[in-house]
Amino acid sequence: MRNNMPNDRSIAYFTMEIALEPGIPTYSGGLGALAGDTIRSAADLKVPVVAVCLLHRQGYFYQRLDAHGHQTEEPVAWAINDFLTEMPERAAVHLEDRTIHLRAWRYEVKGISGFVVPVYLLDADLPENSDWDRRLTDRLYGGDEWYRLCQEVILGIGGVRMLRALGYRDLKRFHMNEGHAALLTLELLNEEAQLHGQDTLGHEAIEAVREKCIFTTHTPVAAGHDQFPLEFLAKISGNFNLSVDQQDVFAVDVQQRIFQYNGDFTRVPELAQRGVRLNMTYLALNLSNYVNGVAKKHGEVSRLMFADYPVDAITNGVHAATWATPPFQALFDRHIPGWREDNFSLRYVLNIPEEELWAAHQQAKENLLEYVNRETNAGLDVDVLTLGFARRAASYKRADLIFTDRERLRRLAREAGPLQLIFAGKAHPKDQPGKDLIRRIFQAGEALNRDIKVAYLANYDTWLARLLTGGVDIWLNTPQPPNEASGTSGMKAAINGVPSFSTLDGWWLEGHLENYTGWAIGVGAPGCQECVDEADCLYNKLENVIIPKYYQHRAGFMEAMYGAIALNGSFFNTQRMVQQYVVKAYL
Ligand SMILES: *Cc1c(COP(=O)(O)O)cnc(C)c1O
Repeated sequence: MRNNMPNDRSIAYFTMEIALEPGIPTYSGGLGALAGDTIRSAADLKVPVVAVCLLHRQGYFYQRLDAHGHQTEEPVAWAINDFLTEMPERAAVHLEDRTIHLRAWRYEVKGISGFVVPVYLLDADLPENSDWDRRLTDRLYGGDEWYRLCQEVILGIGGVRMLRALGYRDLKRFHMNEGHAALLTLELLNEEAQLHGQDTLGHEAIEAVREKCIFTTHTPVAAGHDQFPLEFLAKISGNFNLSVDQQDVFAVDVQQRIFQYNGDFTRVPELAQRGVRLNMTYLALNLSNYVNGVAKKHGEVSRLMFADYPVDAITNGVHAATWATPPFQALFDRHIPGWREDNFSLRYVLNIPEEELWAAHQQAKENLLEYVNRETNAGLDVDVLTLGFARRAASYKRADLIFTDRERLRRLAREAGPLQLIFAGKAHPKDQPGKDLIRRIFQAGEALNRDIKVAYLANYDTWLARLLTGGVDIWLNTPQPPNEASGTSGMKAAINGVPSFSTLDGWWLEGHLENYTGWAIGVGAPGCQECVDEADCLYNKLENVIIPKYYQHRAGFMEAMYGAIALNGSFFNTQRMVQQYVVKAYL
């Protein structure tokens, strides 16, 4: 266990969620999938990273759906000891007038050559803690906003303290994967104060912390940017024995205005009365020397949102070997030896004969349909054009756009060629519009039943995500621009030769090449000049381009399959992405 020395680590990666393997439910969606893929690629590339997350004993939630698409949530049951090793070291944080004791569980991510990136999952379930405190690391994105802030104290402040307790002393960079980890900056300020024997920090201390910090922002949607009542600051102030000298450490926004908080807790009531809130995004922005969005467009949108800050962009990716389905792993192993070590070489897929590519795809599709039919009794047919859609059931993602005009959809399937649809995705327990969306998809499926088969799979997770992204013929994505920061499921599909059919937002603005990597949905986009709205584009292109290619011009359809892998699989991977982080942020 103690074989790899903490002092060979220079980069600490902090994340509120991470998808390590299918049995470990410490993630909810794209952010966690990205964190897991990042760490896998860091291990492959031997980047000296150590990662920190919370244990999430009950995970996000286990999703059950009844026959009408009504969602209920259960805690995820999992055997922690089967996956993780408990560490003997302890750390502590303060909440109100209490001390919360923490332990860490270690998971090892092994790279392609055996290099290990350790991941420490923090756990407050210790007998020394009160019953309420013991539950603080149970539920990802559960509870109220105070529960959430407590979790962020544990992640950011507790995480730094735990790393120190574990012997990580030479960390040069602290990467915050989203604002949830922003409080780590305050613990680094504490350390500066201690180091210099001061209780008032000057400009140099703040610069020293800023030098170490990297912040990746992941969404332009407001709910993705944590804000807390300013009064909470007093409840967590036991963690800071510093006051900050006239400097710009906390900035909190009210209707676009930025206030600077100078560390004087007596001013909290006055500021709170003026509506000032504690904003984790601004805290991270203020104390980071490198900030980035997760796709080119998202960088632009973020620069508009945070006009006073330089925001760069590094486009997301996925871990190619993780997301390639077994038939595609075998295909690549046969034809492109070394593709796992060097994802760029996926462009040589162009040399693979069509029959072999098609056979691998049909095998992946059979594996998927076997599961779908067993789970849902949908009776899907392997020779029918199959569209997949799976992601968080958030309203802006518009999972039901394809059902805007059911009669038209029914007609085009009858006249142009048959279609079948597979959906999956969870709605946050408190997201009623998201839950309604799932029910509407069930209703549409029932209404269309004889003409277009629709299956909705429960409990979308990374295991299902690979089966689904790799096994459908077309990956559908219909977010309302510009809300999709990047999106990664289309990248998982691309690795498996599954073209995307998507609105032009997020990564697809960079990955889209009409007919060669997939198809665009959007008034004015290639092939959509005459469309009246996005639903019209969707139907027109299905009817006039995609369905005819699939059934009558297979070689044309396969051009997009080859392009998905050669142009997008070779680029939209975390191997390329982590290399960019190394060059732009870590070095
Ligand atoms: C990849 C993945 C996501 C993210 O998909 P998006 O297209 O980015 O929304 C969400 N959930 C799971 C389980 C995933 O594997």
